Amino acid sequence: MDLKGLGPKTFAKLNNQGLKTISDLLFFFPCRYIKHEFNTINDIEVDKSLILVCKVIEKPKIYFIRKNLDKLLLKVSIDNTIFNVSIFNRRYISKHLEINTHIVVTGKFLKNTNNFTASNISLLKNYQQGIIPQYNISNVKPATILKIYSEALKQGINLSETIPDYLLKKHRLIDINNLIHKIHQPKTEEDLYHSKRRIVYEELLMFALKIGFLKKINMETITKAKKYDIHKVRDLIKTLPFELTDDQKQATNEIFKDLKKNNQMNRLLQGDVGSGKTIISLIASYAVCTAKQQVAILAPTLVLAKQHLETFNTYLNGFNVKIELLTSDIPTKDKKSIKERVKNHEIDIIIGTHALLQDDLDFYDLGFIVIDEQHRFGVNQRKKLRLKGIKPDILLMSATPIPRTLAISIYKDIDVSFIKQKPKGRLPINTDIQNFDNLDFILDKIKIELDQGFQTYVICPLILDKDESTKLSVEEVYQLLKSKLNNQYTIDYLHGKMSDIEKTNVLNNFYQNQTSILVSTTVVEVGVNVPNATTMLIMNAENFGLSQLHQLRGRIGRSSYKSYCYLIVDDDLLANERLNILKETNDGFKISEYDLELRGPGEVFGHMQSGIPVFKMANLIKDEAILTQAFKDVKDILDAKDPISIALKEKAIKTIDSYNLD
Ligand code: ADP
Ligand code: MG
Repeated sequence: MDLKGLGPKTFAKLNNQGLKTISDLLFFFPCRYIKHEFNTINDIEVDKSLILVCKVIEKPKIYFIRKNLDKLLLKVSIDNTIFNVSIFNRRYISKHLEINTHIVVTGKFLKNTNNFTASNISLLKNYQQGIIPQYNISNVKPATILKIYSEALKQGINLSETIPDYLLKKHRLIDINNLIHKIHQPKTEEDLYHSKRRIVYEELLMFALKIGFLKKINMETITKAKKYDIHKVRDLIKTLPFELTDDQKQATNEIFKDLKKNNQMNRLLQGDVGSGKTIISLIASYAVCTAKQQVAILAPTLVLAKQHLETFNTYLNGFNVKIELLTSDIPTKDKKSIKERVKNHEIDIIIGTHALLQDDLDFYDLGFIVIDEQHRFGVNQRKKLRLKGIKPDILLMSATPIPRTLAISIYKDIDVSFIKQKPKGRLPINTDIQNFDNLDFILDKIKIELDQGFQTYVICPLILDKDESTKLSVEEVYQLLKSKLNNQYTIDYLHGKMSDIEKTNVLNNFYQNQTSILVSTTVVEVGVNVPNATTMLIMNAENFGLSQLHQLRGRIGRSSYKSYCYLIVDDDLLANERLNILKETNDGFKISEYDLELRGPGEVFGHMQSGIPVFKMANLIKDEAILTQAFKDVKDILDAKDPISIALKEKAIKTIDSYNLD
């Protein structure tokens, strides 16, 4: 890199940050921009940061306040408005401030609009106006960086285009050389808009192209089409005690289409808590059984696995399907026998927890895998189960709804089905935000429910009390409620540190309504289904993510009775803003979208596990429209034969394995 004004020291610093060539530099974009736009007289307001152009109307006066501290005072005008400007320790500029000179003052009117306190004063003719880029380059002065960029751009850049002409024209994108100039030296907001738009588009186009290739690879993963008996499946659907919602029907159709094809199903079924995903997986599982193949249902917790067993046994009773549970708490002897029978195809559907992942579990012919609450399992665990069959069809289920584009982005080569409607007759949950000081008032309301025989959950962020924490614990709240309710109600507690047997006991009592109040950590978040519970208190609600709170409150509102959720916070003013959306809506999709916008996908799902790609500028939520467009454009690129399209395809294929092919 040979640039005027770039000494060896600065060069070394740039090198350290991976900026080795001029091209590196040009493609290293500003992280933000400072906009030096002048305010007008109409913007004037006390306590607002302002940049004003004004005219000196009286020669400045200098006051010496004490050692090393002087104050320069001058009178200025904007049109007919006159005010004083003061600034500390700038007496050396006073000689430039002749009457009628135009100057730029930066600062605030602190008390009134007569006296402006400036942090900077410059002559208008020297003032660097416009949009100043800021770079994330450490240890180099901003002014030096700007100079380096200015020199680099002066060298007359001539980069070859990276987006095919037909797409540049279609989306009216600026060309690459224009882009490089405008992103580093924007003159107007419009320059910025156009350059950012092109960068975002190009990033998302490459991303969509990679996904396009991944899907193609997956399409070529041939598996055995499932020859299910549609008449038997219809008979099962006829016996269900309810009619499937339209969304459930559509998701079922999509799954059945996949089963029929001879490429592997890799589908994510997304639906809010209580939207009825289980029944869909049950219908599909039965279909696979009628095709004489086996099914594995993987659940993250014992509670959930047992619940699924019960559901499957209930609805598949009389359909000649052998269902068995395999969990860690089953005696070794029985486990052995179950494994034996799975291997001999004496069991059609095996439901279980992590125990299903053990090496010594072999199937006769595993054709279909359902992974419930799939985000609770890592990539390797999912793979382990998948390898127990010959390219089995896979259905992932998730209750943390995420927008379609983001789902595709995270899971890459996957199809997504959505259930947006709730089953008929569900009342929305009433949610209220309350200060901890109002606990007695809330307990009175809860008592009304308890006295009618309904049950309640109380969720706490901690298990045990911690001295240094202001957060409430299960231990503390359990004691508190016992004394506040005078032992009038049966009350129990649950948390993740308890043994499986203890947990099962506690939950069984709650299921059977032998306990009225269950104080618990978020272990109940997933899957617990007690329709008789109609109230929930969430302590220190401000500690939880919005989607998580929505999951938690999904434990109530599971019957046709009205349910109430109280979010208890210490400081309702602070918490209100974020939590309010839970009051306003029961739509998990809206909530997670809001959460994603607020915190970003990486925060919500965790950067590492989720595999959310990192972009320079693109944002998978905010730029959804562009991503959708990019997905459409991929089809054109795949067919195109021009050199730029070909180069794009080659680049996508080359970098494709940096994505995780689950
Ligand atoms: P989730 O999607 O959270 O896993 P579940 O599958 O556990 O939800 O379903 C929640 C409850 O809704 C279950 O008790 C189930 O029997 C019931 N359910 C499912 N589909 C319907 C429907 N179409 N009409 C009425 N109830 C339904
Ligand atoms: Mg479920």
